[in-house]
Amino acid sequence: MSPDGTSRTWRSRSPEQTRQIGVEIAAALTAPALVLLIGDLSAGKTTLSKGLIEGLGAADAEDVVSPTFSLIHEYEGNPKVYHIDLYRLDRLPELETLGLDELWDEDAIVLIEWGEKFADSLPGPRHEIRLTHGEADERAITWTQWG
Ligand code: ADP
Ligand code: MG
Repeated sequence: MSPDGTSRTWRSRSPEQTRQIGVEIAAALTAPALVLLIGDLSAGKTTLSKGLIEGLGAADAEDVVSPTFSLIHEYEGNPKVYHIDLYRLDRLPELETLGLDELWDEDAIVLIEWGEKFADSLPGPRHEIRLTHGEADERAITWTQWG
């Protein structure tokens, strides 16, 4: 895919650096926004989310845990932040029971891990953050902002 959006890439060498990159990206997010976090298991999507949520002022990074099992976590703040993980969802009807449609109308930041599984059902414009494994603890992190 050749992005028409604006992209920026970082190289992280530790979970702490990834979290800090999340804080940096958060400073450029304005609500309402949809952010897809894309990457393999353990690429660092949840670690980056800790930084995003901390940077948005919605929670301390250490209080952010993976929504893999609860599917959706809500952080009260200004803006409000939703952190969602669709890893365990396989079918569109299951996604529809989550009631995401109502979130798009809120003035919120919506972070979604594994959202690309249902990309056609999610609204745009949006941000995509791709995380890829390098050697050992290295991760390449590319943030693309789509018109
Ligand atoms: P995901 O949500 O993509 O499955 P997590 O953030 O939950 O990934 O886990 C990332 C794992 O990789 C953690 O165990 C973390 O300690 C480890 N890790 C090692 N190096 C990095 C890095 N540079 N950035 C993020 N996580 C890293
Ligand atoms: Mg995760």
